[in-house]
Amino acid sequence: MTKYVYLFKEGNADMRELLGGKGANLAEMTNIGLPVPQGFTVSTEACTRYYADNLKIGDDILEQINVALAETEKICGKKFGDLESPFLVSVRSGARASMPGMMDTILNLGLTDVAVQGLARQTGNERFAYDSYRRFIQMFSDVVMEIKKSFFEGALDEVKHAKGAKFDTDLTADDLKEVVKKFKAIYLREKGEEFPQDPKVQLMESIKAVFRSWDNPRANYYRRMNDIPGSWGTAVNVQSMVFGNMGDDSGTGVAFTRNPSTGEKKLYGEFLMNAQGEDVVAGIRTPQPISALEATQPEVYNEFVNIAQKLENHYRDMQDMEFTIEHGKLFMLQTRNGKRTAAAALKIAVDLVDEGTLSTDEAVLKVEPKQLDTLLHPNFDPAAIKKATAIAKGLPASPGAATGKIYFTADDAARAGIAVVLVREETTPEDIEGMDLSKGILTARGGMTSHAAVVARGMGRAAVVGCGELHISEEKKTLTVGDKVYHEGDDISLDGSTGNVYGEMLPTVETTVSGDFARLMAWADKARTLKVRTNADTPRDTKQAVSFGAEGIGLCRTEHMFFEADRIAAVREMILADTVEQREVALAKILPMQQGDFEEMYKALEGRPMTIRYLDPPLHEFLPQKSMIDEIAALANELHTSSEKIVEKIDALHEFNPMMGHRGCRLAVTFPEIARMQTRAVIQAAIAVKKEMGYEVVPEIMIPLVCDIKELSFVKKIVVETTEKVFEEQGMKLEYHIGTMIEIPRAAITADEIAKEAEFFSFGTNDLTQMTFGFSRDDAGKFLGSYYENKIFESDPFAKLDQDGVGKLVKMAAKLGRETRPNIKLGICGEHGGDPSTIEFCHNVGLNYVSCSPFRVPIARLAAAHAAIKANKKK
Ligand code: ADP
Ligand code: MG
Ligand code: MG
Repeated sequence: MTKYVYLFKEGNADMRELLGGKGANLAEMTNIGLPVPQGFTVSTEACTRYYADNLKIGDDILEQINVALAETEKICGKKFGDLESPFLVSVRSGARASMPGMMDTILNLGLTDVAVQGLARQTGNERFAYDSYRRFIQMFSDVVMEIKKSFFEGALDEVKHAKGAKFDTDLTADDLKEVVKKFKAIYLREKGEEFPQDPKVQLMESIKAVFRSWDNPRANYYRRMNDIPGSWGTAVNVQSMVFGNMGDDSGTGVAFTRNPSTGEKKLYGEFLMNAQGEDVVAGIRTPQPISALEATQPEVYNEFVNIAQKLENHYRDMQDMEFTIEHGKLFMLQTRNGKRTAAAALKIAVDLVDEGTLSTDEAVLKVEPKQLDTLLHPNFDPAAIKKATAIAKGLPASPGAATGKIYFTADDAARAGIAVVLVREETTPEDIEGMDLSKGILTARGGMTSHAAVVARGMGRAAVVGCGELHISEEKKTLTVGDKVYHEGDDISLDGSTGNVYGEMLPTVETTVSGDFARLMAWADKARTLKVRTNADTPRDTKQAVSFGAEGIGLCRTEHMFFEADRIAAVREMILADTVEQREVALAKILPMQQGDFEEMYKALEGRPMTIRYLDPPLHEFLPQKSMIDEIAALANELHTSSEKIVEKIDALHEFNPMMGHRGCRLAVTFPEIARMQTRAVIQAAIAVKKEMGYEVVPEIMIPLVCDIKELSFVKKIVVETTEKVFEEQGMKLEYHIGTMIEIPRAAITADEIAKEAEFFSFGTNDLTQMTFGFSRDDAGKFLGSYYENKIFESDPFAKLDQDGVGKLVKMAAKLGRETRPNIKLGICGEHGGDPSTIEFCHNVGLNYVSCSPFRVPIARLAAAHAAIKANKKK
């Protein structure tokens, strides 16, 4: 019989796939003797079964839950459903990868109308008993029954208002009884039945709700963003309750062993007395810094400091911990490797090596490649900041500079399609997509560990939270600070490093990275075998990429050089030419420009290799659109022809499906003179730079969109003949290579043939994905949403390489290519080249390099190191 339920004492930290992160760590903390309220974990496999069994919990699983519950009762010396001394539990979700705020916890489960009286008698604390009951009714109704939270919040506010209570702690036992009455009435009104009075029913409904929450839209979106497969499922933890709401010697809090923003080695956190669960992060009252505990409860504080150190040593990483104090006794409720900013991740990783805790390889694995993004993006111009006056100041929750237009709801922000700053009273898990699509997040409420703060840090978005001076009306869409009112669409800037908010758009500057970055990247470079090149078309991008560590250019798109104002005229003249002779005249004008570009690029590369792709897009892209009458007239004037003639040409170039039309090497087949000109430009530039600079320049010429060996042979012949001619003219030869992009499935399938002519392959996975799926790159966005909703796809194949299909073609082509030409050079140059999971795939397939946009070069270097270290571990 499969075991689906584990007592905490039966698990350990290595079982996170089965027990989820939270469950595995609760088990581990139990094993190392920390004070953990006992309980059991229903495994992720039970969740998978629940879905396979059509949303039912199997009888065998139910039986195992009952057995574990009975065991836990024994350990805790209490009985579930007992009316005099009720055994209360929490029901907590916990997936393999932490998914903060995705699934809600239910506390105080087991309370009923009768049991609450028993609890009051037993503890001699009626206020506490009813406080627990009202919390339970609200959480159960919200999480399990999906009754709107605002109904309950409204009712609570009513009672608070009537009693003149500022905080929930000001309410008396009688007030709370009234709250409970109102809450139950809401439940009856919304559900048409009484609040369930059978604890077993409460428990089973809650477990099912956790399973269901695995599939809610927020969880799905989070998984898509973070590459978490839907098949993993979540575990459920059922844990005996400890109470932070028993009075002023009780409380609850969260803490990190090091500062999650900066990495500084110092205990960092907040707590709230006489509170329960998420009160501390919900911004209900203002929490106190963890250091304040030392004064009020020195013993608890010291014990906590010791446990924190013990946990950090045990896990060999910065820990994020949750705890509760019940009548002066400390309980640990959670620990996990803490989320952190990129700067903190670097500092912590480097410090842990210096402290002798981690090897350099282990430290490299501690920094998420995607996170580096935030380090490499601009901060505010210090001069502009000096002059600007902040309109408000909040907590600096997540570093970075954000400027944009104000939007008040996550939906509006997500739909705005421009640079947006999301301004909210506070954020909730529903807001996650809007937060992701915003430049920055500003909230009026909440602390450093509030939802907005935690999620923003995880996403690398700048965030300022708990900015109490702001008055936000979501309804009127206004933000009021003092007597100034801002509306939707107004300018705003935030500095996530200082907490300052500015009522204007401030200029930003590039960041300079710290010494920690250089040290960690050096360790990464030592560990990786995959080379990292960049996609760059200008000397500026090239220099940027080289400064980020690019080892060459994997894709130089020559057409991008054609769009500049001083060139496009010659390009259009070439396209509009009727005869070869006319075309050659126009091409002769383009040649020196293109050659000059290549010379500059070669110099920026200082001897590093560059793969130059020949003209690729359909020609109509260079002409004005038919509706642009003025531009057509001007062009006609310039070229001494008529508007009609140009319109005629535009019509002639029209294609129903330009992505599958006259483009790529097909252009060179029709107009060999274009390939001839480009070859001259490449070879002449290489010779000129070699002569001038004295270093070797080895051109790599890449023929795009090849589907057949003969096509490649045809174009290659043009390139070779032209090159030989140039060598003769210049009286000088140099090494050069001709290769192709593999971006049409037929090319991948016949890669053994193609490798007879091609000295290198570069996988153009954008087109290869488009043509393998038959999805247009430009239109797929319109229907992919339905694919996610209907569980056909979990992610966008244009963002994350489809390893099963497109990846199979890549693997096959690599193998076939090597069979024909063992030393063939293999790389990837699609958008996927900067995606860490794709990079791991490329490492495992044995490609020689990946190529990505300049800002992703450091990400790719680190991801390549991760791939190599992980692959070595497996060996
Ligand atoms: P999340 O994953 O959102 O952090 P948790 O399951 O950790 O959710 O629960 C949130 C909070 O609820 C915890 O930090 C803790 O304060 C409280 N909590 C959970 N279980 C218990 C328990 N058994 N006793 C007391 N408090 C609990
Ligand atoms: Mg939570
Ligand atoms: Mg938690």
